Amino acid sequence: MKFNRRIEQLAWPAVQAAAALRGSTLVLPIGAVEQHGPHLPLGTDFLFAEAVVDQVLERLPTQLPVWRLPAQNYGFSPEHLDFPGTVSLPAEAMLTNLKAVAAMAAKAGFQRLVLFNGHGGQIGLLQVAAREIQQQNPHLAVLPWFLWSGPAGVLEVIAEPERSQGLHAARLETSLMLALYPELVGPIPAAEELPKPPGGLSLEGAVPTAWNTHWISNNGVVGNPCGANAAEGKVLLELLVQGWCELFQVLLQSNWPQIPE
Ligand SMILES: [Zn+2]
Repeated sequence: MKFNRRIEQLAWPAVQAAAALRGSTLVLPIGAVEQHGPHLPLGTDFLFAEAVVDQVLERLPTQLPVWRLPAQNYGFSPEHLDFPGTVSLPAEAMLTNLKAVAAMAAKAGFQRLVLFNGHGGQIGLLQVAAREIQQQNPHLAVLPWFLWSGPAGVLEVIAEPERSQGLHAARLETSLMLALYPELVGPIPAAEELPKPPGGLSLEGAVPTAWNTHWISNNGVVGNPCGANAAEGKVLLELLVQGWCELFQVLLQSNWPQIPE
């Protein structure tokens, strides 16, 4: 099947022409291969990143200069390594891979590289990668974006306390998977009690801890997937796709960021 915006389906002269357009932008979907509880597939994070990028690219006006790279499926997931199936690349390998992709983008003449990430455990690493890549390729803008932050109103679909405590394979991800690939979802497990950090400390957020999943969960879920449903997932999907569509349009119709000559 042919997709006009997939770089791997183009021959090099077409890539050269694409890169030469004003504001030319490449999007690299990045995920992880890691346990997502007893009910969601290992590929959850890259399946989401790819699905949202593809739907966004389908909706964007065809004249906008944006193309998709093949997804990077393996990610950085050391916190999930105690569960079978999880593959975690060393942080150094992630940086090396991303720098190789960015070197191509810069050399071909692309002006922007969006790292479109579906895995919350590698946000910090991708921010590091983006800054190093930027230093090494002074005329390439790098945007380390995270699937679940950006579009307004997405997390608000989920009620508290699950909104703040549902960190992994919980209601948010289970509902979205039910909307996208219901055939990949197994029986939804009962919630496990999360340990309460003392005082103002937290797992994620303001005063975080580098947690290991098996400290806080027996089945790999962090949060409460009960009540997840496809209708809620469809609402989430539309908010994500529409929200990212708007943000991509803002980026692609602007000259942000302005890099001095
Ligand atoms: Zn996930």
